Amino acid sequence: MEDHIRELYQEVILDHGKNPRNFRHPEDATCEAHGNNPLCGDRLTVYAKVGDGKVIEDAAFEGRGCAISVASASMMTDIVKGKNITQVERLFDQFHKLCTGEVEDIADPEFEDEIDKLRVMSGVRQFPMRVKCATLAWHTINAAVQGDQEATTE
Ligand code: ZN
Repeated sequence: MEDHIRELYQEVILDHGKNPRNFRHPEDATCEAHGNNPLCGDRLTVYAKVGDGKVIEDAAFEGRGCAISVASASMMTDIVKGKNITQVERLFDQFHKLCTGEVEDIADPEFEDEIDKLRVMSGVRQFPMRVKCATLAWHTINAAVQGDQEATTE
């Protein structure tokens, strides 16, 4: 990993890990799912309010997990707001490939800002055990919006 990305990665994990965004239980959530990463012990509940056009109007989470899982959930809930379910699936797919190293990098003109953030988070690719921590929240929101109540990284 390039040095500046490594530094950014550490900053982002610390910042979101210490001050998670959207760490709450919205009363008007339309769906939720429990995410479980038994390898690390991360357990998150992700809430989403899905409105017209399957747009995610609000997303939030609660739970306990390692700094990486919490930071990723914090970032995810920020990123998905205002996007529709299909767009969220696409972002997750791209993020997943970045994390596993399946692709070196991605370019998506529609989501440049989002990809910039996810690229930093994908620093986990150096630590394969941590990929499931970083992707747990994304698995979980996908499960929630698809009507599943449980998501597991296993
Ligand atoms: Zn973890």
